[in-house]
Amino acid sequence: MTPPIAADYTAQAISTDTIGYLHSTESGAGVDGPGMRFVFFTSGCQFRCLYCHNPDTWKLHNGRQVTVEQALSEVAPYARFLKFAGGVTISGGEPLMQDEFVGLMFREIKSRFGLHTALDTQGFLHDRVPDEWFEPVDLVMLDIKHSDPEKYQALTGQPLQPTLDFALRLKRLGKKMWIRYVLVPGLTDGDADIERLADFVAGLGEVVERVEVLPFHQLGIDKWEKLGMKYELTDTPIPTPEQAAHARALFASRGLKVT
Ligand code: SF4
Repeated sequence: MTPPIAADYTAQAISTDTIGYLHSTESGAGVDGPGMRFVFFTSGCQFRCLYCHNPDTWKLHNGRQVTVEQALSEVAPYARFLKFAGGVTISGGEPLMQDEFVGLMFREIKSRFGLHTALDTQGFLHDRVPDEWFEPVDLVMLDIKHSDPEKYQALTGQPLQPTLDFALRLKRLGKKMWIRYVLVPGLTDGDADIERLADFVAGLGEVVERVEVLPFHQLGIDKWEKLGMKYELTDTPIPTPEQAAHARALFASRGLKVT
């Protein structure tokens, strides 16, 4: 497995607040937030999730370099449509690796276009930004990849606690959240692990609008091969509908809305 990149590497890697690195964009996405979304996928991620389906986003400088103005010009033609149909999501990779660029993007998207904004993140780097950074962000889609610290570390290459701290911070800020959980047979489908997470998420209260259980898939396998990296989940099955329904029921049993 490729070793994780140290968090302080990222601060060094970003030298300006107006230049960012984008892996790709997508218009008309229906699964990355409420309604129809224009999605910016940033490059750079310090996690090394075993099930990552976009390992080509890991390296920051593999992305296309853009200014904030260039990035905004890509969403501008859709702004009137997005105003009533959905909004803009910034995903990754890990957007908080480019906190200054992404923060400026959110501020400008909100002030120029008045659009609904969503941040899709695993939260690890949240403490590099002040509370005000989140003001133009309407929704945080927070990936919590495991509830057991050791298994989380084994799955992602990084510790769990910063992500849990981020969830508690968002609760304090009253920020709306969707919690995302990738269900992987043999890795994240243990009842006790899901119940531990469900209890934590239920404790966050009404800022959590929903929990999304995302069944693991094998669609990223070719990318691992192309990058010459060893993919460790070749023999891992995708969850059956019954397994997915069972995981959703565990979250729902805590009073959470689950999709
Ligand atoms: S956090 Fe997302 S982009 Fe980063 S390694 Fe994990 S799945 Fe891939």
